[in-house]
Amino acid sequence: MDEPITIDGSMGEGGGQVLRTSLVLSMSTGKPFRIVNIRARRKHGGLLRQHLTALNAAAEVSRARVDGAVPGSVEVTFEPRNVLPGSYRFSVGTAGSATLVLQTVLPALATASAKSRLVLEGGTHNPWAPPFDFLERTFIPFLKRMGPDVSCQLERPGFYPAGGGRFIVEVSPVAMLSRVSLLDRGAIRRSGCRAVVAHLDMNIGHREVGAVCRGLAWSPNCGEVTACPESTGPGNVLIVAIESEHITEIFTGFGVRGVPAERVAAGTVEEVRRYLAAGVPVGMHLADQILPLLALAGGGSFRTVAPSPHTITNIDVIERFLDVRIECKRVADDIWEITVERAHGFDSGAQG
Ligand code: ATP
Repeated sequence: MDEPITIDGSMGEGGGQVLRTSLVLSMSTGKPFRIVNIRARRKHGGLLRQHLTALNAAAEVSRARVDGAVPGSVEVTFEPRNVLPGSYRFSVGTAGSATLVLQTVLPALATASAKSRLVLEGGTHNPWAPPFDFLERTFIPFLKRMGPDVSCQLERPGFYPAGGGRFIVEVSPVAMLSRVSLLDRGAIRRSGCRAVVAHLDMNIGHREVGAVCRGLAWSPNCGEVTACPESTGPGNVLIVAIESEHITEIFTGFGVRGVPAERVAAGTVEEVRRYLAAGVPVGMHLADQILPLLALAGGGSFRTVAPSPHTITNIDVIERFLDVRIECKRVADDIWEITVERAHGFDSGAQG
């Protein structure tokens, strides 16, 4: 067996992403790793339910030998064996993000030897994690450009603190992910926003949508408000979609008790304005999430806004596992081009 790669979980952002990216790359390359100082830069460090579920899911899918998979653990060793496609059900058991659990196992299953079907349970709309709508309309379409066929379907949303969300994902794999070059978003075709309100006053949603339409100078009929009786607990999410020729980007805001709806909308409007002003295809969150995929494909490039700490941290983790070079080049004010290439020579066969 290879010596495990040692990852310091306190590097950069020092959060759960360092562990998840390590799991993604370990499963797909077969390289074992040992991570120490897990989530050392978070107030409550170590493995929380969401991270433990992701770790156990990765272990189940890759038949891995794992040490340290207990709540609160700050050190884990992970030795994957072979990735086995099939039917799986992963349940976080709290409102912890089930979309992050999916993102941990999806790359390996997208290049496995047969189809898989996954049932994911937990939070589907969590602040600081990819909301289901982003997964469905932004992340999965990007992955599909790389070859695999992936579909996802929301059965019911899960909001903090009740959780109880559930969605189904079907994956038809390819032998290897293809490179993607996404430098231009093309013309904007449609923009709109939607506020989802579960077991709360619907007026919250109307105020959010009104504030987005005013803030972005959109006509009021660009927004809609929907109730969500199927949700287990109360919750509110504001979703803004910018559909361009080459990509749809999703921006979200979350209602928080005591925070006015207009303030929730203002934060989301700010993010959308930044994206629109930069004129780039890839938004801040998608940027960090696609880097491991491009690295596994052996190359690719995209334009985005200035790299976030999550992006910088992911680059460091990726370079520990794979022989790739990732370059972030500032093109103009808030326009950056990120290029992933094999450290030993770049084959220019990028696919759009
Ligand atoms: P921790 O509690 O350690 O912070 P975590 O595992 O929940 O852990 P991070 O390590 O901060 O989280 O990673 C969060 C991930 O969620 C990142 O990939 C980030 O881009 C993504 N993300 C956060 N907010 C959004 C959003 N609004 N839309 C899409 N993706 C998001």
